[in-house]
Amino acid sequence: MFPFDHPREECGVVGAYIPNAEASRVAFFGLFALQHRGQESAGIAAADGQTLNVHTDMGLVTQIFRERDFLPLSGEFAIGHTRYSTTGTSQLCNAQPLVVQGLAGKLALAHNGNIINASQLKKQLKEQWDCAFNTTTDSEVIAYLMVNAPGNSWEERVFHCMRTLDGAFSLVAMTEDTVIAARDPLGIRPLCLGRLSGGWIVASETCALDHLGAEFVRDVQPGEVVIFDRQGMRSAVRQEPERSRAMCIFEHIYFARPDSVLDGTLVYTARQRMGAQLAKEHPVEADLVIGIPDSSTAAAVGYARESGIPYSDGLIKNRYVGRTFIEPEQRLRDLGVRQKFNPLPDVIRGQRLVVVDDSIVRGTTTPHVIKVLKRAGAREIHIRVCAPPIKFPCYMGVDMADQDELIAANKTVEEIRELAGADSLGFLSIEGLLKVSNGEHDGFCDACFTGNYPVPVQLQLGKLVLESDN
Ligand code: SF4
Repeated sequence: MFPFDHPREECGVVGAYIPNAEASRVAFFGLFALQHRGQESAGIAAADGQTLNVHTDMGLVTQIFRERDFLPLSGEFAIGHTRYSTTGTSQLCNAQPLVVQGLAGKLALAHNGNIINASQLKKQLKEQWDCAFNTTTDSEVIAYLMVNAPGNSWEERVFHCMRTLDGAFSLVAMTEDTVIAARDPLGIRPLCLGRLSGGWIVASETCALDHLGAEFVRDVQPGEVVIFDRQGMRSAVRQEPERSRAMCIFEHIYFARPDSVLDGTLVYTARQRMGAQLAKEHPVEADLVIGIPDSSTAAAVGYARESGIPYSDGLIKNRYVGRTFIEPEQRLRDLGVRQKFNPLPDVIRGQRLVVVDDSIVRGTTTPHVIKVLKRAGAREIHIRVCAPPIKFPCYMGVDMADQDELIAANKTVEEIRELAGADSLGFLSIEGLLKVSNGEHDGFCDACFTGNYPVPVQLQLGKLVLESDN
């Protein structure tokens, strides 16, 4: 993925019940493994059976939590969140977990996804329950809905929410003595279940379980609610036979870490298959295949193996360039590219390069990367993208850019090639992508490529839709 031109990751969530241990420590290391899913803010809520406390702040997980911050976060129950804002602005009041009070008591909640009918539900909650909203996020809408929902158990309350909410949600919630996790009926965002130290853990991706030394049990099923408390774990699934799965295919292309397993498939392997399929669809005479590190490396290896063209590192990534809130102005983009990637001139000089990237969103920085490679002596540059052209925005929790900013929505492949200054340009077809992405189950959302949204969307919805509603 070229820097500055990518869909923004959504959020990462973790929930844990660890008997006789401080679950907040587990949540911390889980969030640390999920940092790639959101870098704006993070937080942990913890409970000991009687009290529930929360600590949130802006920044990276390691910047937010110092030793003293764990003192109030004691107890066997914890949930955590790392956030990129897909609804609501980036400010402390929108950091999660957020805590609300309602008919069923006190509830902390952290959410990954996007609720399409949040504005309308917020209005109803204000009128019916007089809910006082403190944030501009759709997550607070879910929290108030859940805590005031009819039902005698959390399963019943969550199922009520599932019937009411439209959109994507993988969520973790917590009372003083119970952790609740749920995944929307289409399974748009990932969520997995594991075991650790006689307790239970849920996380957005399996890489969080691996780093904690937890045992992977299974994916949380679409429409499933999982509950842990001192009595153990129980779960229930809301059956919706008429609706098929619609997992975000961008998790496989870019969002998830390559060492995570999604729906039974290692993401690294899925990306290699995408690269191999790309080589079949867009072969070219070249000397060397390189990938844009790190997200395109697996696909570049797949392209090289299928085509028989040798693979090499060609750009070295500065690992210490953190995600920053400040993005360079247009005139500094060349410099920005150089700060993030340094070419290897001895490898590149005189070579006809296949450069594999995972997607092109606005197309604003591709020309700058090509310039950097050409200055390092590349003879030809053939860009191969292991996603189809992105033509539609996302309403399910990914900040993709508005439609008028999406280069493929407004230009042909040949026009994009010319603007970028590449010798050739090829995108993976949607058929090829779906063919190589199937895991244990069929059913992906591919709406940003096809416009076929899995839920009805209002095309004018933006991420600040709830901003003026408080
Ligand atoms: Fe994922 Fe694209 Fe669907 Fe959004 S529209 S959920 S980014 S596949």
